[in-house]
Amino acid sequence: MALYLDYNATTPLDSEVAETMARCSEAQWGNPHSLHAWGRRARAAVEDAREQVADLVGCDRRWITFTSGATEANNTVLQGWAVADGGQNALLVGGGEHPSVRETARALGERGVRTAEIPVDGNGVVTPEALAETLATQAPVGLVSVMMANNETGAVQPVHELAAVCAEHGVALHSDAVQAAGRLPLDMARSGVAAMSLSAHKIYGPQGVGALVRDPERLPIAPLLHGGGHERGRRAGTENVAGIVGFGVAADQARHQRGPEARRLTALRERLEMGLAESGLAVTIVARGAERLPNTTCLLLPGAEAETLLMNLDLEDIAVSSGSACASGSLAPSEALLAMGIPAEQARSALRVSLGRPTSGADVDHFVQRLAVVAGRLQKRGAPA
Ligand code: PMP
Repeated sequence: MALYLDYNATTPLDSEVAETMARCSEAQWGNPHSLHAWGRRARAAVEDAREQVADLVGCDRRWITFTSGATEANNTVLQGWAVADGGQNALLVGGGEHPSVRETARALGERGVRTAEIPVDGNGVVTPEALAETLATQAPVGLVSVMMANNETGAVQPVHELAAVCAEHGVALHSDAVQAAGRLPLDMARSGVAAMSLSAHKIYGPQGVGALVRDPERLPIAPLLHGGGHERGRRAGTENVAGIVGFGVAADQARHQRGPEARRLTALRERLEMGLAESGLAVTIVARGAERLPNTTCLLLPGAEAETLLMNLDLEDIAVSSGSACASGSLAPSEALLAMGIPAEQARSALRVSLGRPTSGADVDHFVQRLAVVAGRLQKRGAPA
């Protein structure tokens, strides 16, 4: 039985989203910047989607800038801030951020921007105390970026508290909300964050579309892409109209389905973790002490190398991930796990299982049963004689 348990890497396109996109490609294919009727129809479709995405995060629709995904949104906010700031202030990023934040900060550091990482605790959480301390040692700070939930471990960051600390210091907070969208309640007005990044393909929308959500008054930035005056001059390039329309429908569904789906996935995740505890495998659940996303379990399976596990499971048509999908293909242990103080040897045994809308209880049971066999074999082989 083929089993996909890698929904943090990407989700399948929802059928209603796909149908709406197909209809849009047929009937609203104009350039949203053209003044004629074709252009106006396409523009209306983009503006409807903007409303739907704004409703998902609870913000003013004018704060949404559509991008090619969250990688672009993260690059835009960090690089755009650095240009606007002119090198006066430091940039702080959380330990264990997604590479699109971490590597952008590194690149800015190489270009002379002062950057520092905020240490995380053993659960991968940035505590308000750690943030306050880093703000004090790195002052003056202009921007802080801490993700809402970790893509590898599912650990949820205390973003409201972090925003309050940032506000005390008069510093803007950006949060990569890619994994939180559709899984945790998002309320930009209440959360205190000045900007958020989103990606459509993590919420059953199309790949290659996302958004930077930003209050321009709290966080002024320079555009990353220059050209025509698209997206109010914030992101040049003809909009991906059908993709944006699909993102809008996916955002609408995510908003309506979130509560019951989060409860269903939490119960499935508990079933998975209970099953693993009873399987006889030596297994540690990462970030267990933190609030976690309802759908994510990151496991350490000492004695079994994650890449080998992954390939063995793949032979059985079971898809999971070793840490972040973006990092797979390299045997380097996950930086997010290392940042939590997990030794490299153990981090190399980390497997990420992420559940989604199509996942059933039978799927979870099948996975546990097959992992017990595959990992059990490897662990036995690695055990001292
Ligand atoms: N941030 C996080 C937390 C992610 O999980 C991902 C996707 N792996 C991204 C950013 C990048 O998103 P996109 O694929 O839309 O560029």
